[in-house]
This record gives sequence, C-alpha cells and structure tokens, in this order.
Amino acid sequence: MLKLENVDAKYDSFKALDGVSMNVEQGELVVLLGANGAGKTTLFNTISGLLKPSAGRISLNGQDVTGKKPSALVQSGVVQCPEGRKLFPEMSVMKNLMLGAYVHRRDRAGMKKTLDHVLEMFPILNDKKDDAAGSLSGGQQQMVAIGRALMGRPKLLMLDEPSLGLAPLVVKQVFGAVQAINQEGTTVLLAEQNAFAALKIATRAYVIENGRLVMEGDRETMLGNEAVRKAYIGA
Ligand code: ATP
Repeated sequence: MLKLENVDAKYDSFKALDGVSMNVEQGELVVLLGANGAGKTTLFNTISGLLKPSAGRISLNGQDVTGKKPSALVQSGVVQCPEGRKLFPEMSVMKNLMLGAYVHRRDRAGMKKTLDHVLEMFPILNDKKDDAAGSLSGGQQQMVAIGRALMGRPKLLMLDEPSLGLAPLVVKQVFGAVQAINQEGTTVLLAEQNAFAALKIATRAYVIENGRLVMEGDRETMLGNEAVRKAYIGA
C-alpha cells in the first residue's frame, strides 16, 4: 500500500531522514519505534506531505505521490493523528470531530455514519459532545484526536505517539481502540515509545535511530530481540 524508497528529509542542512526504505501492506498494523528525536514525526510528516522529501520516492498503491500536498494525500486516504493531539481546545468535541471531515468530504450521510461509528467506539465523547475539547481529560482528548482522524475516512491511519502522557489504564483503552480500528480494515502506522504495548498489537515493526531505519521484524521477532528489549522495553 505504502512504499518508501531511499527517502531523505532535511531541516535546512540537517538530514533528519537518511535513506529510509519501508513498506506497509494493506491491513497491517506497523509500529515505528524510536527514542526522542529519532525522526518518527519527521517520517510521518514526510509521508503525509507536510514535509517534502529531499530525495527518494514515496508511492501509494503503486502511484508516485512524492512531493504531493497534504490535501491530496488526505483525499487518497492518508490521515495523520498528530503527536500532542493538536485539538482546538475552545471548540466543542463535536466541532473538533467534524473538522476531520470538513476539508474533503461532502457525503453528509456517510459523514453521519462515520460519526455514529466514532461515538460508538468512544461513548464518552457522546456524553461530552457539547463540552469544550480542552476541558476533557488527556485520554478523552486522545479519543477526540483519533475520532477526528477517523472522520477523514483513512485508508492509512498514522498515529503519532497516542499514548504520550496517559495513565496505564487509559493507554490500554487507546491501544484497544487502535487494534479495533485495524481489525475493521484500516491500515495503521503507529509511532510509539511505549514499545511493549504497541508491539503487542502490531503485525510488524521498524526501529528508527538518527533518521535511519536500523531494524525490521514481525511482532514475535521484535518482542524476542534483546537489543529491542533493552532499548525500548526495559527488560
Ligand atoms: P519526538 O518523539 O521527540 O517527537 P521524533 O522521533 O518524532 O521525536 P523528530 O521530531 O522527527 O523526532 O525529530 C528528528 C530530528 O529532527 C531531531 O533531531 C529534531 O531535533 C530535528 N527536528 C525536528 N523538527 C525540526 C525542525 N522543525 N527544525 C529543525 N530540526 C528539527
């Protein structure tokens, strides 16, 4: 579905991605592990078109999308749920959710159906739909951010550190939702520092260090790898 070939990305002269080649197949849940500053967000922004690669090729379902605008990529089903959630705190939960659809969807009936599905997945958001998004707990705000991304009807959903700053019980809930979204057929790319919880729901994972992919493997291989365990799981 998604293929990157030797992708570089730069901030001025600083090379933040260096020869990144990866692929994500339809239906997979691929985890991207990496420490602070390794390049996870840069990679996501490059895939979603927010950052133009300085070299390499990105293709989606066999079509070259290198350098395409974020709006075009959203139309093609590439939807990013950013690190830190980036909600509009003064606006209601409902308005924040709908923002995920307004940009490119016109199918009112379809939007209503997606909204019903989001509220079914996160019933608490239905109770709080008229509240300001900023008044919700961290976990509930993360649910709004994921719900907003789902309103964009993603084929490839990229989640950037959804568990950041959440209590363990809430992390479990969020990861359960991510797994359910994947099982419903949405391909997921998940950047996480919470490696153990992420690997438990993953089909495959990559490890990024200093802008380079240094390791790749399926869930069992990664969970059993000593270097991964030492660096990311702490066991
Ligand atoms: P984190 O979890 O801390 O967000 P990350 O793995 O997502 O880490 P990135 O945010 O992609 O890492 O950062 C990769 C590298 O690029 C870091 O060295 C960072 O300092 C640098 N960087 C990120 N954004 C910019 C920017 N706008 N301008 C210059 N350098 C940047």
